[in-house]
Amino acid sequence: MKRRDFIKTAGASGLLAGSTVMAPAVHAKSKIKWKMVTTWPKNFPGLGTGANNLAKLITDMSGGRLKVKVYGAKELVPAFEVFDAVSRGTAQMGHGASYYWKGKSEAAQFFAAVPFGLTAQEMNAWLYHGDGMKLWQETYQPFGVIPAAAGNTGVQMAGWFNREINTVSDLNGLKMRIPGLGGEVLKRAGGTPVSLPGGEIFTSLKTGAIDATEWVGPYNDLAFGLHKAAKYYYYPGWHEPGTTLEALINQQAFNALPKDLQSIVSNACKVVNQDMLTEYTARNQMALDTLVNKHKVDLRKLPDKVLDKLKQLSHEVVNDVAAKDAMTKKVYQSFNKFNKQVSNWSAVSELAYLKVR
Ligand code: CA
Repeated sequence: MKRRDFIKTAGASGLLAGSTVMAPAVHAKSKIKWKMVTTWPKNFPGLGTGANNLAKLITDMSGGRLKVKVYGAKELVPAFEVFDAVSRGTAQMGHGASYYWKGKSEAAQFFAAVPFGLTAQEMNAWLYHGDGMKLWQETYQPFGVIPAAAGNTGVQMAGWFNREINTVSDLNGLKMRIPGLGGEVLKRAGGTPVSLPGGEIFTSLKTGAIDATEWVGPYNDLAFGLHKAAKYYYYPGWHEPGTTLEALINQQAFNALPKDLQSIVSNACKVVNQDMLTEYTARNQMALDTLVNKHKVDLRKLPDKVLDKLKQLSHEVVNDVAAKDAMTKKVYQSFNKFNKQVSNWSAVSELAYLKVR
């Protein structure tokens, strides 16, 4: 560092005397640059901007010692190659959702969303104060990737349809964009699940390449203009009751960081995990109002009988997936146990309260 820069830095931080002056100068010499690849279109509301926030937090909290640059889907690698890019070290970080990586490990899906599973609040409880985080790390360990929860959408919407869904048979032959375990459930209901990155949904729906889609919720669905491509907007998002977004960190790159920067990376993820959930809660209600009152969207609840059938199929799917390998079974058992216990508490707290409000 040049002398005049050093004086400027030291002066700005008010550290003009004593041996502590040397500390920032020594750190400033070792600037580290990381790339963060994402599965989202660049700057996409909530998801892309959440990734941007994460990068900015790490850069700011480290005083610029660790600079993170964000790349949207396709800028450095395509959306669904984010995991591999972080695993290889092409990028040191990634931001996405773990159900995109079921091809790597079936267990990965449990850390994003399980149909009729945990809500956002319950999911965070399992991850941070149950065995969730530990098991997630174990799942990604063979790939040299460290996961962190880094965002949550809250309860999603069931999606956009051009036909009414009155009975389960209306799902028969339906080609729908729906990822993860939810997609497997649709398959059992007679539909054809398609996995598409967000950026390709609108055109696919508009051109009829798919008949229906789910994406996230009002805030994000409005941003993609999905109301211009489908007639009916169904709720609730039975397949994604509180989807966790993830940060992926290359293990070698993380291990090479000093302890304080490791802590900054981990804690920045925690901040973004909570911040994104509050953002979705605030923006979804405004966007829902716009969709219904301005764009006259036909908002409908899935019939109880359809939801009952989807729940039954979901339990079958999750059970079958859990039987595929030892790691998935272990994750499923932990998830299931936590789900049962926390449901008892949620029934006498959130659920009971929401019913009487
Ligand atoms: Ca979704």
